[in-house]
Amino acid sequence: MSFWFDTEDYILPAADDAAKRLAEIFTEQGVRATFKIVGEKARVLRDRKRDDVIHALSKHDIGYHAEYHSVHPTPAEYEQQLGWDEGVKAFMRREGRGVEDLMKIFGVVPSCYGQAGGSWVPQSYAALRNWEIPIYLDETSHVGLDGKPFWYCGVLNVLNLDWRVTRTGLGGEGDFQEGCQQFDEVHKRVLDEGGGLISIYYHPCEWVHKQFWDGVNFSRGANPPREEWKLPPQKSPEETERAFEYFARYLEHVRTRPNVQLITAREMGALYPDRAYQRPFTRDELLLMAKHIQKEVTFLRLGDRAVSAAEILYLLAKAVVRFDKNPPPKVQFLGARPDERRLQYAFGSSPLAFRIDDIDLKFLYGPSSTWSETIQESTFSWKRWGEACCDFLEEVEDLGRIPPVIWVAGKAVAPEDFAATLGWGVERLSEQNLTSWTGTEFPGLKEVSLKKGNFTAGKYVAEDRPGLWGWVIFPPGLRCPKMMELGRLQAWTIKPAILTRP
Ligand SMILES: [Zn+2]
Repeated sequence: MSFWFDTEDYILPAADDAAKRLAEIFTEQGVRATFKIVGEKARVLRDRKRDDVIHALSKHDIGYHAEYHSVHPTPAEYEQQLGWDEGVKAFMRREGRGVEDLMKIFGVVPSCYGQAGGSWVPQSYAALRNWEIPIYLDETSHVGLDGKPFWYCGVLNVLNLDWRVTRTGLGGEGDFQEGCQQFDEVHKRVLDEGGGLISIYYHPCEWVHKQFWDGVNFSRGANPPREEWKLPPQKSPEETERAFEYFARYLEHVRTRPNVQLITAREMGALYPDRAYQRPFTRDELLLMAKHIQKEVTFLRLGDRAVSAAEILYLLAKAVVRFDKNPPPKVQFLGARPDERRLQYAFGSSPLAFRIDDIDLKFLYGPSSTWSETIQESTFSWKRWGEACCDFLEEVEDLGRIPPVIWVAGKAVAPEDFAATLGWGVERLSEQNLTSWTGTEFPGLKEVSLKKGNFTAGKYVAEDRPGLWGWVIFPPGLRCPKMMELGRLQAWTIKPAILTRP
């Protein structure tokens, strides 16, 4: 289980002391928490010369929690109409300064990121990969997978854990008793299902304020200049002291339960390794993927590892074309750098092959847009289909993501239909026990007719609806249909994260 604190109030100075006190409570009990810190909060600690707070926090794990958190525009506001590439750039430009400042002030690359309030955006994931921040740690209903950790856009998400999120109130004895009882119930349920992560999160400012720092300043789109920022109302010193004392007792209760291990965000990656990249898939596994993708274009669990729809598509395409990891530079394309990996394929030679062992997996993002008109039915020769697979693989090498459309004999095919059809083809070829075969036609398989793909992975991403943007800081009426559609397309990358057994 993991305790994490969104450390964000850069207005009320007492919140600095609250963060320090919490860090000390964990240190005294010999365990570590994760403090997700806002960029401006880190700068404020530095400028207020609170080296004592920075030092106390540094004994714990440091994550990132956005540059200004609630100053408008927040990420969902500035990303709402942007596409993928410009959205990734916007996020990196606007939020990147905070990452740099955290590195300067705390001396570490943040272990994780989680959005401010409900300001979730899909483009943030590509920025995290660029910054080498491997974990998304937060709670929100925008994306989730059965209340358990999952992979999305190549980032491990500890997000949307449903009933596996618990906490205690900070009011005193009654809250404490109730919090302990609630933890014990969640703990029992998690043990009953074989173990897993429990999330407990707070904001250090909750120990000192009566109302959130951003609620009093930035609610419903309000954006006053810094000189007009107001301090939030504060709790009495007695209330604050009682809240800390009971919280220390709650922590002691939680950490001393049997079979409980407290982990930080930085330790989560080792518990949920992505084994899909650790060893090649077998012939039988590839056949399972080929069958699965014809029914549903979504992830598949295979024993101790899982593959996303994007990964299945990539593996299937690689199975049916001849390629070379380090081809001689005889196939040159205009503008191609000589050192670029290229498929050993040119029109006129034989594009088809069948090899399903020892294919390296490559991470791909989902498409960044939807092609408006794709063909619904057609029949192709396998030669044309092989050419399309080569074209697809070259394009994904360049783009790093699935294109919105795949051209087969000059016709526009949707990626999910392409995937389902490839699944059909690989299943037929597997039946013939071919190995490392190359030629211009597959024996006994002249034609392939287009299959309809059923992209069900999209259901793990919320549809745009008013309630999704209910965070009090958002301007009233905010809607982000274009951005949530981008998020849905990125569900090509979603798959469960599987807990390692010790
Ligand atoms: Zn926050």
